Amino acid sequence: MGHDHDHDHDQDQDQDHSDVPPPLALRVKALQSVLAAKSIVSEATVDRIVDAYEHRIGPHLGAGVIARAWIDPAFRERLLADGTEAARDHGIRGLDPGVRLVVVENTADVHNVVVCTLCSCYPLQLLGMPPVWYKSAPYRSRVVQDPRGVLAEFGTDVDDDVEVRVWDSNSEVRYLVLPERPAGTDELDEAALAALVGRNAMVGVEHVLPPADPPPAP
Ligand code: FE
Repeated sequence: MGHDHDHDHDQDQDQDHSDVPPPLALRVKALQSVLAAKSIVSEATVDRIVDAYEHRIGPHLGAGVIARAWIDPAFRERLLADGTEAARDHGIRGLDPGVRLVVVENTADVHNVVVCTLCSCYPLQLLGMPPVWYKSAPYRSRVVQDPRGVLAEFGTDVDDDVEVRVWDSNSEVRYLVLPERPAGTDELDEAALAALVGRNAMVGVEHVLPPADPPPAP
């Protein structure tokens, strides 16, 4: 029998015989098979979760929370007092009841940066999947030792008279940075403000920049 793998292996592209999956992928597959066999988690459920994180859950959700905090002082107060409750009120779903969301506010005097020195804890429900750099050993170790140096590598300048605070996430607490609202945005509505807010600003490694100037009229 020939060894042509072009026929019915679309869903198993990782399984080409010349490309053995890495041990972690095999462990995930084995775990998923056992959970499905025991009717604990169906494959359809796993597919729905993966789809949600790939297509529906992402930094646009966190950006919506930030924009609302900028225009709604009462919401900002509630967000800073109890991030979990305020985010839930805003419509963020899937927040783990055992994990506290703590929102830390950037001001003219304080700049906040978030890390998980142990692994990769991250407010997934607001920001989607963490980027590779967030999970990397160099970021996790260096941002606590030399936060200004790491920020500079992201192109982020923080004045010497601004205090930099580094927040170390863990299994019980996830941090979200409430960035400073950029100047020149008084006329923008909530949706336009949200469009300015990127994931990295909510981790604290970048500032939110004002909207780019419109191109000059011809
Ligand atoms: Fe972690």
